[in-house]
Amino acid sequence: MSKLAQKVALVTGGSRGIGAAIAKRLAADGASVAFTYAKDASAASAVVKEIELKGGKAIAIQADATDVEAVEAAVEKAFATFGRLDVLVNNAGTAIPKPFEDTTLEEMDRVIDINVRGVFATTKAALKHLSDGGRIIMIGSAVGERAIAPGLVPYAATKAAVRMFTQALSREVGGRGITVNNVQPGPIDTDLNPASGDWAVPQKAATALGRYGRAEEIAAMVAFVAGPEASYITGANLTVDGGMNA
Ligand code: NDP
Repeated sequence: MSKLAQKVALVTGGSRGIGAAIAKRLAADGASVAFTYAKDASAASAVVKEIELKGGKAIAIQADATDVEAVEAAVEKAFATFGRLDVLVNNAGTAIPKPFEDTTLEEMDRVIDINVRGVFATTKAALKHLSDGGRIIMIGSAVGERAIAPGLVPYAATKAAVRMFTQALSREVGGRGITVNNVQPGPIDTDLNPASGDWAVPQKAATALGRYGRAEEIAAMVAFVAGPEASYITGANLTVDGGMNA
């Protein structure tokens, strides 16, 4: 039987990149999947169609992570559509790579709003409906633990916040059997961090495996953490980085 049969998952930022791979993988494992996106409705509907073609269930909901009302409405819509909520994946995130001294306060606010405030708001809204024994999974970053290159100062700080948010929250919801974990990717080939170009060279060189990862390699860890075999893992930071932080 499918590992996530009868389960309902909500993935933020599921229309492209790592979030799209997570939405498709959770659906392949049997979950009904709701996911949010910010702008690109056609990319979102392509992911829904791909899941449906394979016999899965999915809906896409436009909800910018910086808009708390939209985020709350997205959680309500996911719950109303599928009748329950078992897994939340806080994936939506962004980076504005540049030297810290050149980074404006507006750029810092944007990164904090999406990567931290958005995660707090989504999690708070989801906790109202999350089933006992549910799963909260963050997509943090390997640079939330170890800064391997310049240019990511506010981003790394937000991902460190996500790491501690995970650990602290696990202490509050464990009584309901809810686990809270933080999957920390290394360099993954997406629109946000393409494996080609100058910026990719030092990241690739920093990994033990000498390559970028694929979004599916992150989705595999998320699927494991979402599944029944991960029932005793909570408050953990699970780094999937090709050995970048080794
Ligand atoms: P992409 O930029 O490739 O995809 C981002 C996804 O999130 C899209 O579906 C996008 O939808 C959505 N999104 C963007 N902004 C918002 C927003 N404000 N509100 C809601 N949804 C939004 O990113 P990645 O897949 O690379 O990254 C996903 C997560 O993984 C992020 O948290 C990132 O920090 C983390 N990560 C990525 C790494 C990498 O190397 N790629 C490494 C470590 C961590 P739309 O197109 O509609 O805007």
